Amino acid sequence: MPTSVVFNILFLIVLAILAAYSLIRGWRGCRTGEDKRCRKCGYILYGIACAQCPECGLPISPGNTVMTCTPRRSGVRSAE
Ligand SMILES: [Zn+2]
Repeated sequence: MPTSVVFNILFLIVLAILAAYSLIRGWRGCRTGEDKRCRKCGYILYGIACAQCPECGLPISPGNTVMTCTPRRSGVRSAE
């Protein structure tokens, strides 16, 4: 199998994964109100300039953060 064909197939697979990922995100309605949070303590790391969590000191890296969905205020009237 030529190398170019292999790369084309890999490209299509990556494209399909990205498409599926964005579709799932769209279905869950998480396009707005996303917060990057510390995996350990849940501290919101938005706008944090230092390299570690101010709350617990965990180094900020892609593996140590989680993205959470914060519902928009207009949608959570019953919870207040
Ligand atoms: Zn933390």
